[in-house]
Amino acid sequence: MNGRKRSDPTTIDTVIEVKGCYWHGCSQCGYNDEWHLEKRQRDATREAYLQEEGYQVKEIWEHEFEHGGAVALVSMLAEGFQEG
Ligand SMILES: [Zn+2]
Repeated sequence: MNGRKRSDPTTIDTVIEVKGCYWHGCSQCGYNDEWHLEKRQRDATREAYLQEEGYQVKEIWEHEFEHGGAVALVSMLAEGFQEG
C-alpha cells in the first residue's frame, strides 16, 4: 500500500452508525451535559480514525428512526453504493 490511503473507487467502505440519542449524547435531543459531551468526543475520535483509514462514516440517530429513519437508512445505503 506504500503508506498511502486507500482510494480505490471500486471499493465500498461505508460505515453506518446507528446511534442511540441518550448513549451517544445527541445535541438535538438536549443531551449536552458533561457525560454526554464525553460520549460525543469519544465517537468523534473514533470516526476521525475510521475516515483516516479510508472509510466513509454515516450516522443515523435514534430520533431519525422515529421519523422515518428506516427510509433514510435505505437511501443512505443506496447513495453509498452509487458513490462507490
Ligand atoms: Zn436525538
